[in-house]
Amino acid sequence: MTKKEIALSAVEALKNEYPDAKCSLDYQTPLQLLIATRLSAQCTDARVNLVTPALFERFPSAGSLAEAEPSEVAEYIKSCGLYKTKSKDLVAMAKMLVSEFGGGVPDNIDNLTKLPGIGRKTANLICGDVYGKPAVVVDTHCIRITTRLGLHKETDQRKIENALRKLLPPDESNDFCHRLVLHGRAVCTARSPKCESCCMKSFCRTGVKELKDES
Ligand code: SF4
Repeated sequence: MTKKEIALSAVEALKNEYPDAKCSLDYQTPLQLLIATRLSAQCTDARVNLVTPALFERFPSAGSLAEAEPSEVAEYIKSCGLYKTKSKDLVAMAKMLVSEFGGGVPDNIDNLTKLPGIGRKTANLICGDVYGKPAVVVDTHCIRITTRLGLHKETDQRKIENALRKLLPPDESNDFCHRLVLHGRAVCTARSPKCESCCMKSFCRTGVKELKDES
């Protein structure tokens, strides 16, 4: 199979396996997703979801967050790890949202990645989940599984994003990435992928090889 054929098969297989794929961070506004995603670095989504209700209540807008002291923000996010850096980034990000974007959240990757602490992964997530644009969220699950599938041999996140953009249907790519997260947690785990019970074992290059070696 070509890479394109593998990619399209993976899209369909994961769609059947995880019909309701969506972001596991809780949010109601674009700003809340931006904040929650920044907090999720080196932290679980479940942990982020525990701290954000109080944080969002205290800082309901970019303006209120922009006026905060990072030390106060830190009190709300201490359990998320890297809280000193994250609290400084959140306040700096809010200041830029107010000064350059009228307090709103930009709808394109170029402007989103100008914000302190926001990289292409978060920018893609916002573009896809908030604005419904074609997005490829290259996180650890995406890197691991798409490599194992044989869709690319890259290690650089930007190159992986570019490679996947060429292979995935634009209107499927965002949901596909959400489904990779679910599949990476449940089946294609980092240390011991369960290839024998994987919905992609018939075309995944790693899975085919693993199962052949075992038989
Ligand atoms: S077949 Fe194995 S390596 Fe391939 S995606 Fe499934 S679990 Fe991962």
